[in-house]
Amino acid sequence: MSYRIGQGIDFHQLVEGRDLWLGGVKIPHTKGCLGHSDADVLLHAICDALLGSVGLGDIGLHFPDTDPAYKNIDSKVLLRRCYNMVREKGYWLVNIDSTLLLQAPKIKPYVSQMQETIARIVHLSAEDVSIKATTTEQLSFIGRQEGVVATANILLQKY
Ligand code: MG
Repeated sequence: MSYRIGQGIDFHQLVEGRDLWLGGVKIPHTKGCLGHSDADVLLHAICDALLGSVGLGDIGLHFPDTDPAYKNIDSKVLLRRCYNMVREKGYWLVNIDSTLLLQAPKIKPYVSQMQETIARIVHLSAEDVSIKATTTEQLSFIGRQEGVVATANILLQKY
């Protein structure tokens, strides 16, 4: 049996006047992530993990933020494309484990919806899409609510 792992990390600024999209779910908040796309930091980390696992570079290479085609694009579309690239390389996705680093809002009420949303796109069970969250105990730009970070690890199995 042949396996591959991938990891991804993404950062976005939090600003007023933007919607907050995390894990494919729109979350009520006073600020949202700044970016060329919908700036869904968690989906971007998962995209990078998928691309990295098969040596296909990163999200910026495939969907450059200078390309008007990706202006305000729904990151679920990007996730589906990255997943399809992995499948075309001959791999199944086994699981995703991810962590969101943010001070606010509390995302616990939205985690199951995020899991289901991601699972549907990448053909996993929701239980195989782990989404954890931590604050930074008020430390750094995350603690000051100036930004959000997401990390993701994934496992692939050859079919
Ligand atoms: Mg990003």
